[in-house]
Amino acid sequence: MRVKEALKRASQLLATHCEEAPLQAEILMRHALGLDRAGLFGQLERELTAEEEAAFWSLHQRRLHGEPIPYITGHQEFFGLDFYVDRRVLIPRPETELLVEKALELLKDHPGPVIADVGTGSGAIAIALAQNLPSARLYAIDISSEALEVAALNCQRYEVSSRVQLLQGDLLEPLPEAVDLIVANLPYVGAAELKALDPQVEREPRLALAGGGDGLDMIRRLLAQAAGKLRRGGGLLLEMGLGQREALIRFVRGLFPEAQVEIFRDLGQIERAALIGLP
Ligand code: GLN
Repeated sequence: MRVKEALKRASQLLATHCEEAPLQAEILMRHALGLDRAGLFGQLERELTAEEEAAFWSLHQRRLHGEPIPYITGHQEFFGLDFYVDRRVLIPRPETELLVEKALELLKDHPGPVIADVGTGSGAIAIALAQNLPSARLYAIDISSEALEVAALNCQRYEVSSRVQLLQGDLLEPLPEAVDLIVANLPYVGAAELKALDPQVEREPRLALAGGGDGLDMIRRLLAQAAGKLRRGGGLLLEMGLGQREALIRFVRGLFPEAQVEIFRDLGQIERAALIGLP
């Protein structure tokens, strides 16, 4: 079978399962052949070898069965960087770049910030910050030792292992010193939404998604641990889900009456991040 025929067939089969079937077929073919976009377009007319065909259809089969593309290829782009991902970690989402942007704005003039990324998963947030803040030191914490294995691979890839210390444990418990900024994309999917997840999200670690009844259980526990873990003038930058702002602000005010809270919207206009400054 020629490359272009295989692409067409694969894309027809995928079309009933997912949007963007032609693009997904193309990504899988590029992965099977080890080609970039231009390379693939130069080879559309050639015959696939038997091995190439077998490799391509096996990737395609995984996609047909619902596995997300980033787990199949081992690649996910985040903040302009390429991260290794597999089923051990949540796939970094574009909306989470908002946390990185806001953290960079806050810390750009700081001579040597210390940051904790709680629930680091693949390490995407911590590594994006390390890359853009050369004088920063970071702690990247996760309760999942499997996730930390993935984060370690990504730290090696970007040569930030000396500045990003990986710690296993529950939220802020393993953090050995107070920091300037706590940044966290914790699990925040509520119980009702968890029952109706998108099939691809179903494939991601529950541990990275499930935030209890209203989704805010982990965030509340984190906030309850935060006193004493922040340096003077420090703050928390937290990702949240649709409709969680009010409950979050109410909880923050109950815990820290003097706190300043600022809310940021993502590109889809959803209130996605909260910056909490403690006096
Ligand atoms: N944004 C993710 C989703 O919609 C949730 C990630 C999380 O819980 N931190 O699936």
